[in-house]
Amino acid sequence: MALAEKTYGSKAFTESVMKERLPKSTFKALKKAFEENKPIPAEIADIVASAMKDWATEQGATHYTHWFQPMTGITAEKHDSFISPNPDGTAIFEFSGKELIKGEPDASSFPSGGLRATFEARGYTVWDPTSYAFVKDDTLYIPTAFYSYSGEALDKKTPLLRSMDAVSKQAVRVLKLFGKDDVNKVVATVGAEQEYFLIDREHYAKRKDLVLTGRTLFGQSAPKGQELEDHYFGTLKQRVSDFMKDLDNSLWELGIPSKTKHNEVAPSQHECAPVFESANLAADHNQLTMELMKKIAKKHGYACLLHEKPFAGVNGSGKHDNWSLSTDKGQNLLDPGKNPIDNAQFLTFLAAIVAAVDDYAVLLRLSVATAGNDHRLGANEAPPAVVSIFLGEELLDVVEALIEDRDPLDKNSVFKVGVSSLPSFPKDTTDRNRTSPFAFTGNKFEFRMLGSNLNIAGPNIILNTIVAEKLDIFAERLEKAEAFDEELKALLKETFNTHKRIIFNGNGYDDNWLEEAAKRGLPNIPNAAEAIPHFKDAENIRIFTKHGVFSDIEVHSRTDILIENYVRTVNIEALTAIDIAQKEILPACRKYQLELAKLIKLKRGLDIGIDTTIEADFLRTHSEETDKLAKAICALTGVQVEAVSVTEIEEQAKSYQTKVIPALNLLREIADGLECYTPAEYWPIPTYTDILFSAK
Ligand code: ADP
Ligand code: MG
Repeated sequence: MALAEKTYGSKAFTESVMKERLPKSTFKALKKAFEENKPIPAEIADIVASAMKDWATEQGATHYTHWFQPMTGITAEKHDSFISPNPDGTAIFEFSGKELIKGEPDASSFPSGGLRATFEARGYTVWDPTSYAFVKDDTLYIPTAFYSYSGEALDKKTPLLRSMDAVSKQAVRVLKLFGKDDVNKVVATVGAEQEYFLIDREHYAKRKDLVLTGRTLFGQSAPKGQELEDHYFGTLKQRVSDFMKDLDNSLWELGIPSKTKHNEVAPSQHECAPVFESANLAADHNQLTMELMKKIAKKHGYACLLHEKPFAGVNGSGKHDNWSLSTDKGQNLLDPGKNPIDNAQFLTFLAAIVAAVDDYAVLLRLSVATAGNDHRLGANEAPPAVVSIFLGEELLDVVEALIEDRDPLDKNSVFKVGVSSLPSFPKDTTDRNRTSPFAFTGNKFEFRMLGSNLNIAGPNIILNTIVAEKLDIFAERLEKAEAFDEELKALLKETFNTHKRIIFNGNGYDDNWLEEAAKRGLPNIPNAAEAIPHFKDAENIRIFTKHGVFSDIEVHSRTDILIENYVRTVNIEALTAIDIAQKEILPACRKYQLELAKLIKLKRGLDIGIDTTIEADFLRTHSEETDKLAKAICALTGVQVEAVSVTEIEEQAKSYQTKVIPALNLLREIADGLECYTPAEYWPIPTYTDILFSAK
């Protein structure tokens, strides 16, 4: 047995550990509670807690923490020790069922979007038994949901779990119509491919912009970028390979199924992809993966950058969200299948997804909207901000055949008359389109608009909810049908016909597509400041409340938090840029000019007829550009001060988007120009060449 096989999951309180350590009856009761989504009875919780504590302390744990994902998107934790002192001066380790199930962190400083007055600081964390507890840094981590005293969700996990229930409920209803009476639950499955950069820590530490904002706010492109495409899938450098090995081992110990690793398109960029899991586990595991990447990078002398666009001029980092639905009997509902019945069922789910993505394209768009992702979407390295679906030629033909009442063109596709009267077709696995925001890839959809930094819960909450909504409408109609086959055929034909505008198999990076998309009436929302406020559109609130995913209040508070986050991000960038330009770049330029002026003066003083016109011209240009820099700093300061004082949050976001960002860009442009004309020894911060190409 390979060592990794032995250590896989060794730091997670997995089902296999529970089975081994819990009394049979407790294990059974616990599993039943999981499966039926019921609360865990107190006496069972006590037994589980005690077994968990014994297991964790054997792993060296002295503390436990309720681990949760507040709306900032970063994980949070507060540690308590297991210590319980005795009157005789000794102590024992204790952990009760109550402590396992519920925690009450002082949560007044987490964003609640006005959900919780500061005097009511109480927030509760509640054990999520569907995600395994684990040991890290001598602490037992218990994945939990986080909500307020009055029951509103204050985190990302709670609505994700609610949305998984919603889509499960509706999918089970639809499956019943296909005779799948034995299916009790359908699970949304997700595999998140994570891109990241590794750069030398030494360089990182010298760049305030990277440290404070996660991206470079200045930097002339290196002479070489990614044009030779020599990094993509290239041989791994030894140091990178050592990092990846270390990362894999740490992920595997926690039971995170890391599978693929390779170099990405941009220099110093890499990717790590796991085997898919339930959306909930995938979300928890992706958060842990990002955290471990940063930590392990440090050990190897690297800084791991997870920002969506750390460097201008080369690709940023994304996160592909592979999504599907799977029954508790193990059937992947997006696997086209071999026989007509399965095909009909597949086409029904496909139709629901196509309709959902078309009707709720704006929701999907805003689920990936952040200040950082604005640099990627539509920049010819990531899909455009217009949502569309790629189906591949073969599947598109099947869909068109349905609309046009004809046979599919493919001779292998047999039009079977019978239970379903729907075409049978072989699965297409060869077609690949990397430019589509939402692509069918054989047996799953790949949502490609996510930025690398994002908590994947957000987009998956949306996907689950919008698909639940369409499945609900389908079930309503089909349940009432007198002749199921005919009704289904009519429903599919109608649905594909209504929503075919969202299907686009061509090149999503092509400008012609944007024109075509506009003609088709597809929404194109270019930036986060404009996208986010749509979260609270009436139709969106209607489906969220109908499916029990968000209450009206929760939607409003979340919208505010997302916009606030946008505003704060851009504000920090502006202040950081001002700081660097003012305190580092400007003085460096003046210093160089002084040296240059001294040189010119010296040469002229020699009185041997040295021609100093070129140097003098150069000095003048350098000085003029530096004056422009000084003005640009003032201009940015001006619009930043103006934006800070706008009181209405949506107006404020607009102010940052339309005034602060352009001023920031102008400042950068001038500084980057100066970088070209200033000797390396005077330039105060590591350059793109240093950062992207010099790590060994
Ligand atoms: P591709 O070549 O299309 O990127 P891969 O097989 O490499 O496909 O898978 C990419 C990601 O998709 C992996 O994380 C994988 O686990 C995930 N994936 C595969 N099948 C499913 C599924 N049914 N549901 C969700 N994710 C899936
Ligand atoms: Mg992929």
